[in-house]
Amino acid sequence: MKEKLLKEFESRFGTTPAFYASAGRINLIGEHTDYNGGFVFPGAIDKVIMAAIAANDTDKVRVFSVDINEYVEFGLNEEDAPEQSWARYIFGVCREILKRGGTVKGFDAVFAGNVPLGAGLSSSAALESCFAFALNDMFNNNSIDKFELARIGQSTEHNYCGVNCGIMDQFASVMGQKGKLMRLDCRSMEFEYFPFNPEDYELVLLDSVVKHELKDSPYNKRRQSCERVAKRLGMETLRDADMDMLNAIKTDITAEDYFRAKFVIEEKDRVLAVCDALNRGDYETVGEKMYETHAGLSKDYEVSCEELDYLNDIAKECGVTGSRIMGGGFGGCTINLVKKDQRDAFVKTACEKFEAKYGHAPKVYPVVISDGAHKEA
Ligand code: ADP
Ligand code: MG
Repeated sequence: MKEKLLKEFESRFGTTPAFYASAGRINLIGEHTDYNGGFVFPGAIDKVIMAAIAANDTDKVRVFSVDINEYVEFGLNEEDAPEQSWARYIFGVCREILKRGGTVKGFDAVFAGNVPLGAGLSSSAALESCFAFALNDMFNNNSIDKFELARIGQSTEHNYCGVNCGIMDQFASVMGQKGKLMRLDCRSMEFEYFPFNPEDYELVLLDSVVKHELKDSPYNKRRQSCERVAKRLGMETLRDADMDMLNAIKTDITAEDYFRAKFVIEEKDRVLAVCDALNRGDYETVGEKMYETHAGLSKDYEVSCEELDYLNDIAKECGVTGSRIMGGGFGGCTINLVKKDQRDAFVKTACEKFEAKYGHAPKVYPVVISDGAHKEA
């Protein structure tokens, strides 16, 4: 990728660039926990957006997207926003740095990536984080702290791309480290690294390539259920609730609200159990918790769908260590923790069975937990 970028950069701009990259991400466990003040547990992966960049001593940004094969120029003032959606991620990052009092000057860039788009691996966060990290290094002497770089990416999505996302994706993309997952406390924003070196196991994502568009905004309804139960318990979020507290009010709330809150409370405990298990190197327990999460998302939180439940069933039948829906639900990927020597058989079976039933095979993405945003040597 680097060679290709260098060639493209030299032929377009004729100067010598520096190289930066940032990663897509997975979330091992901790789903629908962020807006409940709980924990998420992401890591950066070995799929990145990489950019060749050099300052150009003008007040213009000139960028070429190799994958989209499109060239865009824009200024750095608010009214200079480009139309192309991919370029708005870069423009937004520039603007958010400037809004925070940082420095951004004109630059030339060529970039490309291998994070699958829209598959739930956060290619957009990889793109934002790559440029945020680069501009911090090139123009700000790295004076913006890394967590703030993640916030710059998040604000970019909010203010320039129309996506009202949380902080997890950008956090994971910026802060990720090889062989480590991060437990992020979505209430305090404190985080801690945990070892993830599953020598005998691999992570494989199976993308169902389905996305069910549901009416009456199911996410808002889930959120409202959680808020109602928290309020009934006299809490801001379900973070401090436990099952005894929930059971004590069971008869006062609807069955639906009960099961939504039950999932959130249990999921918080599962993240903590996975952290303990990883400290012991106990990947079998990690896998069990992943299956429990899937069951909870499917039966209690009701955000699964037929295709994802089917992939989960196949994983179980194949003896896969752990498997669950990754992401908000109603489609997208399952994340699977599988013994290395079982991987090929599992992937083959899953693809064949899924295709026989739904007419297309899932896409297969093996991932390795890797470094987040960095300058390439
Ligand atoms: P994801 O879940 O992968 O983040 P999004 O819809 O949030 O999906 O972001 C995808 C968008 O990010 C693309 O439509 C494009 O604008 C931009 N993008 C991601 N990867 C690339 C790339 N390699 N080249 C150009 N733009 C990209
Ligand atoms: Mg995105």
